[in-house]
Amino acid sequence: MIAELTVDLGAIARNASALARLVAPARLTAVVKANAYGHGLVPVARALAPHVARLGVYAAEEAVALRDAGIEAPVHVFGPVPPGELDAVLAANAELTLWDRDLYARQVASAARRRRGRAAVHAKIDTGVVRLGLPPTEAPAALRAYAATPELELAGVFSHLAAAEELDSPFTQQQLARFLAATAGVAPGVPRHIAATAAAMLWPETRLDAVRCGIGIYGIWPSAETRRKMNGDGLDLEPALSWTTRIVALHEIEAGTTVGYGRTWTAQRPSRIATLPIGYAEGLPRNAGNAAHALVSGRRVPLVGRVCMDMAFLDVTDVPAVDAGAAVTLIGADGEQRITAEDLAAACGTIAYEIVARLPAHVPRTYHAS
Ligand SMILES: *Cc1c(COP(=O)(O)O)cnc(C)c1O
Repeated sequence: MIAELTVDLGAIARNASALARLVAPARLTAVVKANAYGHGLVPVARALAPHVARLGVYAAEEAVALRDAGIEAPVHVFGPVPPGELDAVLAANAELTLWDRDLYARQVASAARRRRGRAAVHAKIDTGVVRLGLPPTEAPAALRAYAATPELELAGVFSHLAAAEELDSPFTQQQLARFLAATAGVAPGVPRHIAATAAAMLWPETRLDAVRCGIGIYGIWPSAETRRKMNGDGLDLEPALSWTTRIVALHEIEAGTTVGYGRTWTAQRPSRIATLPIGYAEGLPRNAGNAAHALVSGRRVPLVGRVCMDMAFLDVTDVPAVDAGAAVTLIGADGEQRITAEDLAAACGTIAYEIVARLPAHVPRTYHAS
């Protein structure tokens, strides 16, 4: 096995329970899009289902995969569904997202009519991301139009926040005010939701009737500020994922020798360089080279040279008695040391969301529940 991803489903269940308690009485939607943020859709969803009110996915095929796996929890599809896939989503009894009054809303209604059923929909309002959503000025009329369409059943109204990770942005309050104004006419029983993990933590007034948490469920913080605030309030999260591989070759090199493509790293002393059997095709960003660290025998060692498509280099000169076959941790703990997805992301100039979402589905995952 070239690399191994190990997922602690116990940590995921505990993170979900902690977030559900934090936001109660608002209900928790656990977001499992992008292969459950790289952790594996079906095993994660199965572990989460008892702890959450709903599962959130992006694409039609994710909703269908959950049903094929026998998972019966309510499922909300956030993204667009191509007309040819609407029937499968409705057959899976999943909830759709509507953001227009024209083509897509009509396609959804006629797909439901063909099935002689109704489509449960969440109406999305754009309050400031400029991505998907009805303009707030058009929302009241669109919501009335949906209510007047017998094939549509309004299961929720929602929006998404643009800058909820930090406390210094008044924009979150502006978006919340726009959302509440645009949905003032919605029947009281229809849940309103706008917060994802960061807002649920930093902006309690955004919790409303439901909260859609992704990243926090996996034990990853959306920002340093969310971690500071929540730790101060006594909430911690447990990282669920570890990513390990093994050294496949070792090279003793002289000072002045360069390593890898582009010769971006030069040994300043006689050095021992380890070859890793994973690269950017396996999810290790190319710019982790000369920037990120890994753990070997409980020590932090630098990734040197450019990460290749399927291989990378570690400078293990300072690790005593390292052999080919030695374990390497890219994310996770080894002895006293730990590298988080946030650490790896920061070294690569990105966010932990991107690191985990890009872990390829073909890398085997091993599951356990601590
Ligand atoms: C991905 C997503 C979320 C989850 O966001 P986190 O920051 O991971 O909690 C919530 N809502 C929508 C619409 C999303 O696309």
